[in-house]
Amino acid sequence: MDTVKCLKCGSTEMMFPVETHSTYDTIGGLQLKLKEPKDPQVWMQLRDQLLMPVKARVCGSCGFVELYAENPATLQKYWQRGYR
Ligand SMILES: [Zn+2]
Repeated sequence: MDTVKCLKCGSTEMMFPVETHSTYDTIGGLQLKLKEPKDPQVWMQLRDQLLMPVKARVCGSCGFVELYAENPATLQKYWQRGYR
């Protein structure tokens, strides 16, 4: 089994996935947001957007936190279509 080590202190006491939460959020945790590219021809454009939940990996020794997109393949697809 592959052991994940903390990037900062090398500890193997890692916790994943840990839910993220924002105090400004009423329904969930942190999310990444990508918006459809702007169309210069359109005056009032309702831009599509992708919201991607973020999970955390936390070191149980030093507390270092890494963030991971829940579905990076989907995020990459939208990125390649020009979403930012
Ligand atoms: Zn650590």
